[in-house]
Parts: sequence; C-alpha cells; structure tokens
Amino acid sequence: MTAEATDFDVIVVGAGPTGENLADRTRAAGLSTALVESELVGGECSYWACMPSKALLRPPAALSAARAVAGSREAVTGRLDAAAVLARRDSFVSHWKDDGQVAWVAGTGAELVRGQGRLDGPRRVLVRTPEGGERLLTARHAVALCTGSRAMLPADLPGLAEARPWTSREATSARAVPARLVVVGGGVVGVEMAAAWQALGAEVTLLVRGGRLLPRLEPFAGELVAAGLRAAGVDVRTGVQPTAVRREGAVVTVTLDDGDSLAAEELLLATGRAPRTEELGLASVGLVDGGWLTVDDSCAVRGVAGDWLYAAGDVNHRALLTHQGKYQARIAGAAIAARALGRPLELGAWGAHAATADLAAVPQVVFTEPEVAAVGLSAEQAERAGHRVRVVDYELGRVAGAALLADDYQGRARMVVDLEREVLLGVTFVGPGVGELLHAATVAVVGQVPIHRLWHAVPSYPTVGEIWLRLLEAYRDAPQDASE
Ligand SMILES: Cc1cc2nc3c(=O)[nH]c(=O)nc-3n(C[C@H](O)[C@H](O)[C@H](O)COP(=O)(O)OP(=O)(O)OC[C@H]3O[C@@H](n4cnc5c(N)ncnc54)[C@H](O)[C@@H]3O)c2cc1C
Repeated sequence: MTAEATDFDVIVVGAGPTGENLADRTRAAGLSTALVESELVGGECSYWACMPSKALLRPPAALSAARAVAGSREAVTGRLDAAAVLARRDSFVSHWKDDGQVAWVAGTGAELVRGQGRLDGPRRVLVRTPEGGERLLTARHAVALCTGSRAMLPADLPGLAEARPWTSREATSARAVPARLVVVGGGVVGVEMAAAWQALGAEVTLLVRGGRLLPRLEPFAGELVAAGLRAAGVDVRTGVQPTAVRREGAVVTVTLDDGDSLAAEELLLATGRAPRTEELGLASVGLVDGGWLTVDDSCAVRGVAGDWLYAAGDVNHRALLTHQGKYQARIAGAAIAARALGRPLELGAWGAHAATADLAAVPQVVFTEPEVAAVGLSAEQAERAGHRVRVVDYELGRVAGAALLADDYQGRARMVVDLEREVLLGVTFVGPGVGELLHAATVAVVGQVPIHRLWHAVPSYPTVGEIWLRLLEAYRDAPQDASE
C-alpha cells in the first residue's frame, strides 16, 4: 500500500559516497533532504570496493617496502599472515555494518529512508520498503540519482552462471584465500585484485584481452605494472580471452581462445561496470531504463526539462572514482541549492557549479607494486584532443629521494606539456609510493601553473618530490623539436 506522500526539498537516491555528500551539501544549504538507500549506507566504496581492496593491498606493500632496503630487509623473515590481513580488512569495512555511517547521516539532518527507490514521474520517488510496503516521496526542488554501478559480466560466455564467478564484490569480501585464481580483465580492478590475492598466497593467472594492462593510462604504466605482477609470481597473459567456463565441484575450468585451458578454485571477472539504473523508473520521465545518465557540468540530467533531475557519481559515467563522485556531489549540491534559493549559477570553466575537473584533471592511483599515479591527459589523449604537446620522461630511480626510499628503485615519470600555453596537461608517476606525489601534480594541472612559475616551487631535498625539478630540467634541456 502506498502511504501519503512526504514532501522534501531534495530527494537523493543512493547513499554511497556521492549520495551521502550530496545530501550533506543540500542540508548545509538549509534544504530538507531525504536519502534513500536499498543496501548499506556508505555504498560500494565502503564495503566492496575502495576500502576493502586497499586494506588487502596495504600489508603486502608495507612488507615490500621493508624488503626494499638493506638493513631492514634482513629483519623480515616471515610471510604475510593472510588471516590477519583479512581480519584487518574486515575492520576497515566495519564488518559490513553501516551503523557508523547511519549516525553520520543523522548528524547532517538528512532523513534516511531505507528501501529501493524509483522515479514515478517528475519529482516523485516511490520507495519499496524492506517491510514490503511502499512510500511516496515528493521533491519540491530536486531529485538526485546517485545509484552507482555494478560489475558487468560478459553476456555470451558459455557456462558463466553455473561457474559462480567472483565479481569485485566477492574479490574484496572473500573470507579465505583460494589456492588458484584466474582473473579476467586488465583494468584497475583486475590488476589490483591479481596483486592482492597473489600476495596473500593464491596462484594467480591474469588474462587480458588487449595487448596491454591499464589501457587508459600511459603505456609505460601498464608495462611496469605487468613486470611487477610477473615478478610477484602472477602469470600475466595478454591478447587472450576465455571462450567457455565450466565448474565441477570446487574447480572451475577456463577454456581460452588460444587453445589453452586453466583450472582454478575461483574465477574473477573484472570486465567493466554497468549503471544501476534498470529499475529506477527512468522511463517515467522520458529516459531509457538501464542506461548511463548523461549530465551537464552542474550534473543536471540532459533531456529532462526544468533542471529538477540530477545524477552524480558512477551512474553518470564521467569518472568512476569515489573522489570524483564526491566532487560532483559538492558541485551538484551547490547547484541545486543555488537554483532552489534563486541565486546565480557559476557555470563557466572551473566555476563553483560546474564539475569541469571531470573532463580535464581526474587524478587516479592504482595501488599495485609499483603504484601508478596519474592526473589529466596522457600524451595520446592530449594529441587526440588537438593539443601541440611535448612529452618529458624521467627515470625516478635517478632521484636521490627515490634511491633512499628503496634500493634499486624502479619507476618513471612523465609530464605532458601544452606548448601553446606552457602549462601541464597531464602527469603520470609509476613507482613505489608515488600515490602521495599526485596531489602536487593535480594542483599544477588544475591551476594551469605556467612552467616558468613551477621553477619557484622548490621540492625538499632529499625527497622523491625532487622529480619535479628533474622533469623541469629535462623540459628546459630537450631540443625544441624533440617530441613535438
Ligand atoms: C574493486 C574496486 C575498487 C575500487 N577502488 C577505488 C579506489 O581505490 N578509489 C576510488 O576513488 N574509487 C575506487 N573504486 C570506484 C568506487 O568504488 C566508485 O567510484 C564509488 O563507489 C562510486 O560511488 P557512488 O556513490 O557513485 O556509487 P556507489 O558507491 O555504488 O553507491 C551507490 C549506492 O546506491 C544504492 N542504490 C542503488 N540503487 C538504488 C535504488 N534504486 N534505491 C536506493 N538505493 C540504491 C546502492 O545500494 C549503493 O549503496 C573502486 C571500485 C571497485 C569495484
């Protein structure tokens, strides 16, 4: 039975990191806000994605860091304690309970509504409650869809359903280490989970359809990560894909298109993401059920009149990362509040109500060994976008701070310079511990700091940050037509 409608200024559907932050912003602006969640408050990120994956990857990285330095290396005599790693992971996901985040939402003043929400025409959200009832919510100003994404499985792989494959959810929440694991997919989820489970004791084979890992990043990133995985014992195979899978008891057999076959206890499919929009009532407002939502820079959904429908986070497919979802949430929350309160909108490049960093300056860290940290455009992307660029590379191991960090430090850095304006379009670092270098690069790219001014940003000696100085010197000393 549908109860009487409850009115709010704003209704947010999905309480992942994006929905939580959006609700926080609209509440802070004084708008009454409902936050609808069908599973755990905190979303994929907190329980089956960022948090558990990084909790699994940190202990092996800490061990490698100790082993990388003569003197401390000799003190490391044992192996990773897999049970302790899994227990630490469990504490980082709050044992898959959301009490802490429920309390945080309560602190914002938003009303949490448990249940599955779907649009029921303009400004109306019908919630199927856990008790089996229905509750109608209506929005005076805006509805924001923040329903995220889920793992996408290949539709046409024979035997898949019976093989009971792992998706990212099982790969981040498994309670025991499989003896053998086949991972399909060379994107971020595939390489991170291959690294984690190999370190925990599984014998991992990584199957990559194309010729390289991490295909959206600079090619050297995928090459160095493949080398790191191989050195750790992962069997990395490129240019190959499964043609059939079959489970018999505890063992799953994967047949490959090169004629080989593999046996393993578990099979992880890390083959992309799909939007969680199938049962969201999109057709009731003239959109297509099941598709990604296309938005403008204020995160208002295109094709819906009246600027009342917003989509932020994974579901709009602009940048599938928690920090970008939270950024969009801050922007969309501010835009919703400005429109609701009749204030002017700043929609230009880098304006307060425009999520333009999504297009030009997305930072991302891949927590493998070596780590990858990248922001902005790769050289290939910059050239495709029509920029006249110069590419500057430098071996990170030649920087004193890196050599101190790890004996025989292996890594590389690249900056992509826009020759018209002499500003950075993109920066990529690959090497141990480079994730912490990334924010300086993000500031330089977003701030469009001219190269001549970067010379005055002096890195401390002897830190890995001195890579900045080396890159600037390499740029200054390169022949003018070297790589233009
Ligand atoms: C293995 C893995 C590791 C990752 N690691 C990182 C990382 O290290 N750093 C990083 O930045 N990103 C990482 N990501 C990406 C990150 O998890 C996502 O970008 C992020 O979770 C997106 O947040 P969101 O709020 O848009 O969606 P989600 O986190 O997916 O949250 C959406 C919420 O909406 C709810 N929902 C869906 N439909 C409905 C409905 N109809 N009614 C009510 N509620 C609904 C869901 O239950 C969920 O709680 C990783 C992803 C994976 C898979």
